[in-house]
Amino acid sequence: MLTRLSATELHKLLLSRQVSTREVLDAHLERISRLNPRLNAFVTVAEERAREDADRAQKLFDEGAPTRLTGVPVALKDNISTQGIATLCASRVLEGYVPPYDATVVERLRSAGAVILGKTNLDEFAMGSSTEHSAHGPTRNPYDLERSPGGSSGGSAASVAAELAPFALGSDTGGSVRQPAALCGVVGFKPTYGRCSRYGLVAFSSSLDQIGPFARTVEDAAWLAWGITGHDPKDSTSLPMSPIDPASIHGGTLKGARFALPKEMFGEGMQPGVVATVRAALDKLAAEGAEFEEVSLPSTRFGVTTYYIIAPAEASSNLARYDGVRFGLRADRSDPISMTEATRAAGFGKEVKTRILIGTYVLSAGYYDAFYLQASKVRAMMAQEYQQVLERFDAILSPTSPITAFKIGQLSEDPMALKLLDYCTIPANMGGFPALSLSCGTSEGLPVGLQVLGPLRADERVLQLSLCIERTLGATSRPPEA
Ligand code: GLN
Repeated sequence: MLTRLSATELHKLLLSRQVSTREVLDAHLERISRLNPRLNAFVTVAEERAREDADRAQKLFDEGAPTRLTGVPVALKDNISTQGIATLCASRVLEGYVPPYDATVVERLRSAGAVILGKTNLDEFAMGSSTEHSAHGPTRNPYDLERSPGGSSGGSAASVAAELAPFALGSDTGGSVRQPAALCGVVGFKPTYGRCSRYGLVAFSSSLDQIGPFARTVEDAAWLAWGITGHDPKDSTSLPMSPIDPASIHGGTLKGARFALPKEMFGEGMQPGVVATVRAALDKLAAEGAEFEEVSLPSTRFGVTTYYIIAPAEASSNLARYDGVRFGLRADRSDPISMTEATRAAGFGKEVKTRILIGTYVLSAGYYDAFYLQASKVRAMMAQEYQQVLERFDAILSPTSPITAFKIGQLSEDPMALKLLDYCTIPANMGGFPALSLSCGTSEGLPVGLQVLGPLRADERVLQLSLCIERTLGATSRPPEA
């Protein structure tokens, strides 16, 4: 079954002409049409465009110039701009919007010969941790259709887990690649802030947002990261660094690797089954010579509250552009002010409105110093504290999510409980650190993610250690055939 293969395995078959790019695409399209009605992972399947991509990819093979991504299908979170394919951010406010340009990551994937399958579901404007806050309805976890795939890139995570795509992209502002990867038992990687261009990613919180790959193996994730990273003059925060180098992730060993275990991420608030699964995995790594030391990172406790000031502040500013004037929904009113008000009232969902209100409040005169400025200071303190620990270790290891996949609806009426799910993932965004989640086992049949967080710019090292960890822990689980 072609859909079961990793991107690396597909590449080998394509290269040796055992399969064609059309066959690879058709196998995935067939599986999408069979399983997507239940999963709701894809919101748009760009069938026709994908066939054109596949034919172009076949030519690259015929002309002898394929890359590792040529002919491999990729799913894109629907907040990544795609020329000619609707990009709706799961919001009614963007109704009918078709971007006139490709995001840099899309442009790069296309020039590497990848096949864009379509767009995946998310929480509206990437605000959430469950993919329930979507104008398209919730995405379902392939391990249990009653459960959430996590979020906000739930559609991307679910599509990779359910083998609708070997590759997907998501965006990670406070954990939205790593947390759904953990809950769906796949690999999710957030590169160092600035390694991947944000040009064409619909902005949520610009100082935190970073696009990242989903795949079923670390090696695949490294290749997709290669395809999307590298300096981009169109993004002023882009680092002047070359693309992530997948060749350099091989040949590592766990022998003598030094890992910090923050005690704040192994105790209170963490599901016992999650901690037990992670600890059992750590024992296996120790048997391979990995060294562990418990550390304290006290600022972790302030992460969630700090994040939920900074991210809404930036969002309130970024989302001011949805005024009904040039694109998306427009309410029918005769004067421009009431038109804008009515458009925003009708177009944004409850969670997005709440964040715009909070963000506007914390930035307003009289409250700026007490909230936004204070949060910025705490953020700098957190980044520094993590940085200092990372000077002494190869990486910080922890659970990715405090809990395994939860039932759809279980947390939606409890906004604080949902936000606490970001507890272990937020620090990497605060400091810009690279961090990867990979499956380290299951608890009561549901996947548990292990987070590997490394120093700034050490993306290759994080991938290398993750590859060693993946090899040591052995084959991960597959979801039941939906
Ligand atoms: N769950 C976090 C939020 O709701 C993170 C979202 C993200 O990373 N995009 O803001």
